[in-house]
Amino acid sequence: MDGLDGLPNPFLDLPQGDNIMAMYIWIDGTGQGLRSKTRTLPNKKYTPEELPIWNFDGSSTGQAAGENSDVYLKPVAIFRDPFRRGDNILVMTETYSYEMVPNQTNKRAVCNENMKRCEDQHPWFGIEQEYTMFDYTGKHPYGWPKNGYPGPQGPYYCGVGADKVKGRKIVEAHYRACMYAGIKIAGSNAEVMPSQWEYQVGPCEGIDMGDHLWVSRWILCRIAEEFNVVISFDPKPIPGDWNGAGCHTNISTEAMRNENGYDAIIAAIKLIGKKPMEHILEYDPTGGADNRRRLTGLHETASIDEFSYGVAHRGCSIRIPRSVADEKKGYFEDRRPSSNADPYSVTNRIVMTICLGQ
Ligand code: ADP
Ligand code: MN
Ligand code: MN
Ligand code: MN
Ligand code: MN
Repeated sequence: MDGLDGLPNPFLDLPQGDNIMAMYIWIDGTGQGLRSKTRTLPNKKYTPEELPIWNFDGSSTGQAAGENSDVYLKPVAIFRDPFRRGDNILVMTETYSYEMVPNQTNKRAVCNENMKRCEDQHPWFGIEQEYTMFDYTGKHPYGWPKNGYPGPQGPYYCGVGADKVKGRKIVEAHYRACMYAGIKIAGSNAEVMPSQWEYQVGPCEGIDMGDHLWVSRWILCRIAEEFNVVISFDPKPIPGDWNGAGCHTNISTEAMRNENGYDAIIAAIKLIGKKPMEHILEYDPTGGADNRRRLTGLHETASIDEFSYGVAHRGCSIRIPRSVADEKKGYFEDRRPSSNADPYSVTNRIVMTICLGQ
C-alpha cells in the first residue's frame, strides 16, 4: 500500500475540455495478463476502425525484442469507462508485429476469421468466470485467517454473512461497472471455496464473447485495486481439498436453440469427444499444464485424461443442463476451460470442431 489508496481524489471532476481519455487494453506475452495505457482523443463517437492504431514497448511485456520493440495495438471493441465516466472509453485491442502479423498471444485474429466463417450458424457463448481474491501481497487469500485455514468447504457457496463470504463489495462494484460499460454480465455468485467468486458473461454471439470477457476481467482487476485486493485467475490457487477455478463455457448454435435442437447438441458433443486433447490444449494458456492441477476428477471436475458427458452431471467434461434435456433444445456446457483460459482460444477451438468440421 502506498498510503494513497482509498483516499477520495478531489481532482477527478475537473472538466476535460473537448477531449476524452481512451484506455487501450491488451493481452500481454503471458497470454493471461492484461496491460493498458491511456491516450487523449478528440471527443466524438468512434467506431473501432475510426480509433487510431497505437503501439507499446513489447520488450517490457514479453512480446518483442528490445532492438525492435514496437508492437501495434489495433482497436477492436469499445466500452464505456466506469472509472473515468463521462465520454471516456475502454478500448479492447489486438496486438500486431511491425509487419502487421498477429502477435503470438493475439488469439483473437484467427478466432475472428473463424467466427465470420460460421456466422450463419449464429454460435452463442456464455462463460462462467471464476476467480479468487487475495490480499495486496497476492499471496494470502483475502479474508482467510492469518495462520491456518478457514473451516472446510460447505457453507460458503452462495453464502451470506461475514463468516461465509469475503469481498462482496468488490463483487457488487464489478457487476455495476460491467453493466455501465456495456458488458453483457449475466449473473454472479459466491463460490464453494471461501474468497472465490463467479460471474457469468453472455450469451454473446461469436467474437463478442472474448471481447466482453477480457474487458470484464480488466474491470475486475481495476476495481480490486481500489480495495487493495488482488484478483487471481489461477485454476487451482490453493492446493488440496479446495475447489479450483474454471471458465465453464456454455455453447449453442441456432440449430440447437430451435425446436428439437437436442440432436444437434448431441452431435456437437460427439464431435468434441473425438478430439478431447485438442480442446484441452486451448483451454488454458499453458497447453493444459495449469488445468492439470484442477481437472483431477475431484471437486466437481472430470479427469483431464478422460472425456465424458452427461445430463446434470457436474463430474463430466461436458454437462447438458436438466432443463435442456427436458425441453429438447438449448445449449450445453463444456466444464473444462480453466479460469485463466483465453476465451478467444476456447471459442475458436469450439467453432472449429462443431461448426467448421476442423
Ligand atoms: P451453471 O448452472 O453451470 O452454474 P450459470 O447460470 O452460472 O450456469 O451460467 C450459465 C451461462 O450460460 C450464462 O452465462 C448464460 O448467459 C449462458 N447461456 C444461457 N443460454 C445460453 C445459450 N442458449 N447459449 C449459450 N450460452 C447460454
Ligand atoms: Mn516511455
Ligand atoms: Mn455457474
Ligand atoms: Mn461455479
Ligand atoms: Mn457451470
